[in-house]
Amino acid sequence: MGNRATGALRSRFPTGAIALAIACRLACALRGAEPDEAAASITADDLMRHIRTLASDDFEGRAPGTKGEQLTVGYLTGEFQRMGLKPGNPDSTYVQAVPLVGTTATDVNVSYRAGEKRTDLTFPGETVVWTKRFVPDINVADSELVFVGYGVVAPEYGWDDFKNVDVRGKTIVFLINDPPVPDARDPLKLDDKVFKGPAMTYYGRWTYKYEIAAKQGATAAIIVHETGPAGYPWAVVEGSNSRENFDLQSADRNMGRVAVEGWITLDKARQLFAAAGRDFDKLKQSAVRRDFKPVPLGVKASFRFRNISREVASQNVIAKLEGSDPKVKNEFVIYTAHWDHLGRNTSLAGDQIFNGARDNASGVATLLELAEAFGKLKPAPRRTLLFLSVTAEEKGLLGAKHYAAHPLYPLNHTLADFNMDSANPWGRTRDVNIIGFGQSTLEDLLREVATARGRTLTPDAEPEKGRYYRSDHFEFAKVGVPALYLQPGVQFIGKPAGFGRQKIDADTANDYHKVTDEIKPDWELSGMAEDARLLFEVGLKVANGEDYPKWKAGSEFKARREEMLKRAGEK
Ligand SMILES: [Zn+2]
Repeated sequence: MGNRATGALRSRFPTGAIALAIACRLACALRGAEPDEAAASITADDLMRHIRTLASDDFEGRAPGTKGEQLTVGYLTGEFQRMGLKPGNPDSTYVQAVPLVGTTATDVNVSYRAGEKRTDLTFPGETVVWTKRFVPDINVADSELVFVGYGVVAPEYGWDDFKNVDVRGKTIVFLINDPPVPDARDPLKLDDKVFKGPAMTYYGRWTYKYEIAAKQGATAAIIVHETGPAGYPWAVVEGSNSRENFDLQSADRNMGRVAVEGWITLDKARQLFAAAGRDFDKLKQSAVRRDFKPVPLGVKASFRFRNISREVASQNVIAKLEGSDPKVKNEFVIYTAHWDHLGRNTSLAGDQIFNGARDNASGVATLLELAEAFGKLKPAPRRTLLFLSVTAEEKGLLGAKHYAAHPLYPLNHTLADFNMDSANPWGRTRDVNIIGFGQSTLEDLLREVATARGRTLTPDAEPEKGRYYRSDHFEFAKVGVPALYLQPGVQFIGKPAGFGRQKIDADTANDYHKVTDEIKPDWELSGMAEDARLLFEVGLKVANGEDYPKWKAGSEFKARREEMLKRAGEK
């Protein structure tokens, strides 16, 4: 009989619940300091040691399918073995195969024609294009350009930017993010009831734009890059997408996707719109309205490039700590942190290695320290803990997406995912930042453990960047599993107000997805260790607790989870 049924019984017999709670409290008291001792094994020095190894030049920026992958997978496996954790894959290995396909656009020619005048765009300085189709070349000639605003089809908001306009065979041009609809009562604010106000919804993400473009039958989909609404500068597009692009291997060889996916800089987009006799900013304004209709620009775009594709056998790494309670050991709590980063770019002068010290050697270091701490608990937590380091996050959350599609353990018995991506290297903070604030009851459990440590939770300071949709926990959320994603706090202890914001902004501007994401002389990891201890305590609460964590009312993932648990209950 599944745990769900016992959960239901308990809630029907409250006296039983109280007895259990008392029993747990006694048992927990008897176990005494052990969780604290285990948590104390998470140290700044150990975190630094892991980061030093993973972010070293030897690891070559940890790109999937390279020597960097072999070294990383080897290091993680070795560490898990040393800690005495079991192989996480039921096939008795520490890895899950993730078959990827890498495609690289070369000899790229992109141009547009307004009347007789042809304008070439340079790659990757002015435009970045690629195809996810497994074809040897792309040749799109004189495809009509149509501006589709934000390109959103969201029935729940009564929103459809396409209005049945036929864009088949055309090149559609998108704005990034979701429509910033002003509040009718206060035009200086955004309407909270549409696309969550200033927060970015999935409709704002670039991955959504290419998905909807394919659904609408477009040939090419180009997004106008704007640093604010995208959440990152052009250099990130250039660094992440202008070289090899990856996808999971699919049966139709990705022919269902648009032929050309890509971005154009804001400057070049403005010029293009001007060449079409249009004002970009005016059209952008018109796109925040429900009655927006696609605007044919009367300009034709051409894309010609060779596409080198190769199959890449990549791997998720997974270790397991078996639960100690026979009744619930077949229930799971997952911690995730992606091991991959951007590899190396041999066309760069000077430093060519994307070391990814923060992104995400710091998250993997945290994962390892958590695994070690949990491994020290005697007895082990009641439920089974999984430590999953996924591949190809930087290529579109592919390792996590693969796990969610091919879970090694049932997702309806998976209580939670805690994800770590780019931890805090700048010292201790009073707060921790919750990305996707208000999504699930995991946050309430975290608040309990944080309060006990004299710490507080702050909501995502930049919900407009859509971070909840930008790391691996999102793939778990998408399939229904409650997921919690912390980011560094901003209230640094012993530092002037504004220090945290300044550090985070400087990191985004100077180091994020650049070769300079390296260990810095001023790094001090006591805050990272404290954040890891919070994650340890909250995970332990879930692993030993009575209830399944839940999505809160208003979460876009709630219905999915309830349906999934109901189906499991009916079995
Ligand atoms: Zn990254």
